[in-house]
Amino acid sequence: MKVAIRDDDTCYFTDPSELERVYHDVWDRVPICLATVPFAIGYERAGIPCEHWHNGEAFALERNSALTAFLKSLVGCRRATIALHGYTHQDYPAGHEFQAGPDLDARVRHGRAYLESLLECQVSIFVPPHNALSKCGLSAVAASGLHILGSFLSFRPSMRPWEWRTAANWWTIQRHRYRTGRTRRDPLVYPRVLKYGGHAEFGCHSLVPGTTFDALRRSFEEARVFAGDFCLAGHYWEIDQTLKGVMRDFLDFAARQPNARFVPAEQLFA
Ligand SMILES: [Zn+2]
Repeated sequence: MKVAIRDDDTCYFTDPSELERVYHDVWDRVPICLATVPFAIGYERAGIPCEHWHNGEAFALERNSALTAFLKSLVGCRRATIALHGYTHQDYPAGHEFQAGPDLDARVRHGRAYLESLLECQVSIFVPPHNALSKCGLSAVAASGLHILGSFLSFRPSMRPWEWRTAANWWTIQRHRYRTGRTRRDPLVYPRVLKYGGHAEFGCHSLVPGTTFDALRRSFEEARVFAGDFCLAGHYWEIDQTLKGVMRDFLDFAARQPNARFVPAEQLFA
């Protein structure tokens, strides 16, 4: 059973010390998949100065040279891998970037090429900003061949571009709901990779305020019953002492499980 960690929102506004604070004693155990925004535009959240919440200015990652050097060193010593987390991560009146933004194909292509060249790494994963993808957004990512590492992924055929695997995967999910006693409304993280024509998708378990170790342990055990894998996903900027404790307890627990091994998130799709 593979166990991975994803962390979202590394961007121009990130100070290296914030990543260090959360992961300094984690990334030698398990590499962190840093879902990174190449040209961040501010929005209302902790850690982004409020003068940038609404001014629409795009900040290229390289303008934060301390962070750029830090990320390169993390990638170089395999403490981190880099995923594409949108292009600007900006919010539009009609929705989040990959629901309502323009030119999504170009954003994926250029964002990926930019991160690969700046950070001297390979990018094979896309993490949707706010975990939100329209049909158009999904088409743009799928066309690029990037795998999607999401949370709350939608499997409804009406929400997806058509291909024969869409129906097959939808049936897989329905069967899984039935077997685990879930109704259509109950939250579900399907524990195995779903393959589509040119890409694959995997859902993560959120580490957010309120998440408990017991809830993660139950999800882990359910994933194991179905011969699945497990990816934990958080945001460094909201991981406080309490959440860090939950993460540590979970990693200690996972490390003790026979057949579980920590991997970079990219290996979930291997
Ligand atoms: Zn984000």
